[in-house]
Amino acid sequence: MIALSFHGAAQTVTGSKYLVRVADDSLLIDCGLFQGLKELRLRNWDSPPFDAHKVQWIVLTHCHIDHIGYLPRLYRRGFRGEILCSEPTARMIEILLLDAAHIQEEDAFYLNKEGKTRHKPALPLFTQDDARAVSRLVKPVPFAETIPLSPHLSFCLRPVGHILGACSVQLTVRDGKNARTIYFGGDIGRYNAPLVPDPGSPLASDYLVLESTYGNRLHEATDPYETIAGLVHRIVESKGVLLIPAFAVGRTQQLVLILRELEEQGRIPRLPIHVDSPMAANVTDIYCDFEKWHRLDLSRLGGADCALHAGNITYHRTREESMTINKLDGPRIIISSGGMLTGGRVLHHLMQRMAFQKNIIALVGFQAVGTRGRDLLDGKKLLRFHGEMHTVRADVVDVGGLSGHADYTELMRWLGALEKPPQTTFITHGEPGPAAAMAARIQSERGFKAVIPNLGDEFEL
Ligand SMILES: [Zn+2]
Ligand SMILES: [Zn+2]
Repeated sequence: MIALSFHGAAQTVTGSKYLVRVADDSLLIDCGLFQGLKELRLRNWDSPPFDAHKVQWIVLTHCHIDHIGYLPRLYRRGFRGEILCSEPTARMIEILLLDAAHIQEEDAFYLNKEGKTRHKPALPLFTQDDARAVSRLVKPVPFAETIPLSPHLSFCLRPVGHILGACSVQLTVRDGKNARTIYFGGDIGRYNAPLVPDPGSPLASDYLVLESTYGNRLHEATDPYETIAGLVHRIVESKGVLLIPAFAVGRTQQLVLILRELEEQGRIPRLPIHVDSPMAANVTDIYCDFEKWHRLDLSRLGGADCALHAGNITYHRTREESMTINKLDGPRIIISSGGMLTGGRVLHHLMQRMAFQKNIIALVGFQAVGTRGRDLLDGKKLLRFHGEMHTVRADVVDVGGLSGHADYTELMRWLGALEKPPQTTFITHGEPGPAAAMAARIQSERGFKAVIPNLGDEFEL
């Protein structure tokens, strides 16, 4: 029997975990953390309905936390198998997991210190030791090669844009005479995006697992270069700070590249740019090491060692360096993580800058329901921090056109490479509305049979 079950990213965006079982083999595609609403985050504490000891392999599509953040927890529960992924992903995993563990440890520390917990003592979901230990199980594999795992399982990675090292996974599963191919799309990137190459087209497969983050939305046709140039001119005028909460992986590098290009083209003055995140600093170094994997044309950008390090950019690693930014007046630009304002250093910059009208907070990515980023996007003027309310007077601007995810027209374009419909397409990685819209669209426009799995649903293939 070949079984595919969904243990995350089912009727929600985060928590990607798809389990494939055949004979005695167990393989997970992605091992992500639930993020956003509290009821979702609490799921990270539940025991997974499968035995972590028995999972022999985890194949990762890319290193966003909603795809890798549960790895240390699964390690705690006994997972000791192999983690397989592209080379850039392998280089970035430990950096990301250590950061996630640090946030977990810090949250537990504050909850205990302030006594604001019903759990005594509050514990982190996982620790930095867990993150280090699980990172030792990572093994990079090349793109476009069939990697055999057992008589029952083999897979192949295909680039899919989105962020550095991101891929789709075609898994071939054999059970006696029964052989099936399952194509896990992963997070599908955009066409003609700054920095990241176009997604590679999918391969004909028996089953498809398709993301639907923007299953019912179109990205605005606005030009992010134009919008960002406009914001920079406004803070030059107001002598304010342009605060950009951004994910440390992918989005930060994309923003730095856009700002550098605008500078080189003389469309904006060269302002001090602070990238305040040790993780973003480390990841940027990896981006520079893999410059051929994306659109980093160095000659175009002044011939520096790496376009992401030239200009008036400072990468801040230590907490002391981060604190010094607080005293600095505008005009300047601060890019800091996390992107949805759920934690990380960006919170202290937000506290510092949001009460003043001269400053601008630019939201540049997907903002999940239940996050401070979503509250700001929805126009809320009061934000809660550590149990206290704070007023937002800074201007909040939604910068469209920078999403790392294909919108529904781009998803349809990507699917265009499939001449024959898969037997079933499982729609995942989307909230219920977008998932349903995507299912309806591929049924009506392409005749695909679509299923939207619920958390825990298992299908026999
Ligand atoms: Zn992603
Ligand atoms: Zn994702």
